[in-house]
Amino acid sequence: MERRVMISKTTEKPDAPKASTSTDTAASSSGAGKDLLLALLTEQQTFTVVDRFSQAHQAGDIPAQAAYYQSLIPTDKPQAGQQYAFEVNLDACTGCKGCVTACHNLNGLDDNEAWREVGLLTSNDVSLPVVQHITTACHHCVEPGCLEGCPVMAYDKNPDTGIVKHLDDQCIGCQYCLLKCPYDVPKYNADMGIVRKCDMCTDRLDEGEAPACVQACPDKAISIKLVDTVEAQKNAQKQDFLADSPDCTITTPTTRYVSKRLAGVSLHAPQSKPRAEHGHLPLVVMLVLTQLGVGALLAERLLLPFANSWTQLISSAMGFGIGMFGMTCAILHLGRPLYAYRAFLGWRTSWLSREIIAFNGFAAAVHLHITMVALKNNLIPTFILEKIPFAIPTIPTWLTGWASVLTGLAGVFCSMMIYIDTKRPCWNLKNTATKFGMTGVVLGLAAAIVATCVGAILNQSAIKPDHLMLMNLALIIATAIKVGFELTHLTYNTKALPLVLVARVALGITGGVLLPFVFLTMVSMADPMILAAISGTSFACLTLGELAERYLYFAASDALRMPGITISDGGHH
Ligand code: SF4
Ligand code: SF4
Ligand code: SF4
Repeated sequence: MERRVMISKTTEKPDAPKASTSTDTAASSSGAGKDLLLALLTEQQTFTVVDRFSQAHQAGDIPAQAAYYQSLIPTDKPQAGQQYAFEVNLDACTGCKGCVTACHNLNGLDDNEAWREVGLLTSNDVSLPVVQHITTACHHCVEPGCLEGCPVMAYDKNPDTGIVKHLDDQCIGCQYCLLKCPYDVPKYNADMGIVRKCDMCTDRLDEGEAPACVQACPDKAISIKLVDTVEAQKNAQKQDFLADSPDCTITTPTTRYVSKRLAGVSLHAPQSKPRAEHGHLPLVVMLVLTQLGVGALLAERLLLPFANSWTQLISSAMGFGIGMFGMTCAILHLGRPLYAYRAFLGWRTSWLSREIIAFNGFAAAVHLHITMVALKNNLIPTFILEKIPFAIPTIPTWLTGWASVLTGLAGVFCSMMIYIDTKRPCWNLKNTATKFGMTGVVLGLAAAIVATCVGAILNQSAIKPDHLMLMNLALIIATAIKVGFELTHLTYNTKALPLVLVARVALGITGGVLLPFVFLTMVSMADPMILAAISGTSFACLTLGELAERYLYFAASDALRMPGITISDGGHH
């Protein structure tokens, strides 16, 4: 009853009918429930909510639609050094998700797509329990990571408004911006093969209308403000954004979360259970196989410079064939593979573009190298040479070999930077460089051992035990270092993938320690065919183990995202 009275008071006009006065009088003077009930019933009969609405509307007191949000958007355009930004009044937000629904409807999003989300923060203080809803969308950052990382320049930050807009037509669906955004904002639409995200309802703002989410909030919790970009950078330095959010200096978000009620309250995102993130299988295969290819070429240069022609050709061919297969697999990761040719466009800022350029150089260099090795050793059949209408120029194999290695190493370096640049703590320089670099070393050594054994069989020459023993010893040490490093740098989400972890360790130890040990014990007496079989099995186990390791690198990573947001599938396909 009391609540009803309060609502009546706040909604009545100064010249409201007498019923209001009688209510007050009844409630305060008599104190008798019977009288109050009578007064309220009288009020309802004479002055219902609908009546009040109707009367006020006829009197012109209900504002036109624009009047609802006039105070929620700036009246002026941004000046130099300013941009538009969301401001969220946490004291007003009730978590009703009206903003989420409005955004979904206005933008025609698919069922599982959301450009605005609502999360939950809580206080750990039992003497002052607080539950706070957080509405969040794109923060239209001052230094947008999505824009910097995109290989096809499918993002545009408007120089006048600061709004970061996604250009759907440009997008090839590589999903790198999902990794680059620390707030998990861009959403991949598998049916369309592209990413999409909030554009601050640019078209509406241009017309002086408020964005759908701003208009839809019944508590006016979301508004658009003008913010000073230098001020935003200072706030980012102070980590003045939201409790438990990712490091603000990564992209400098412009959204402001304001509250008077929460002053002095320490909020936290509830601890989520370990969960598997998206595994990015095509990227897993691409990364491992390109690193294998470069490792095989490097091993050929360093370990097999005086090996027989077949051994050199086999190790080069392994580097080329496996590396090329890996690069081809990367195309399967694209939502719009037909537009992959655009991927070099963003080379000025995107490590993904640079990686693609470097690996294309690697492909050309290795192709040339294999041709030169085959020519030098008369391994190209005459009937093929006769069909080539010009004399193939000869280039020293040391030159083509090192050109292959250097371009390949440049590609692996770019691969590392792609993930280091996301600023995820679990993908830091130490973790990424050790894993990617050691994959090349381990698989390169294993490939060189296979090439030596198979080369000896094809060349009908004897195997040199000392050389093979050294390579197997190096393989055992490298594998032990790599697996040991991985086990001492497990992420929180690894707990969600125990079987993959067990498989990874078992395959690594079998292929990189047990089988090389067996090889060592048999190298001086066994038939080359048996040694080739052992080294081939070791190589296969190690490759599978590295694939499992790289799957864990993605699926067990602790992704950055807005605090308190519950994610069902990581936003990927
Ligand atoms: S919040 Fe993410 S998607 Fe939005 S501008 Fe910043 S980095 Fe880009
Ligand atoms: S999915 Fe790839 S191409 Fe599309 S916007 Fe994101 S980074 Fe750019
Ligand atoms: S501004 Fe528009 S696109 Fe962005 S969250 Fe709000 S309704 Fe969605």
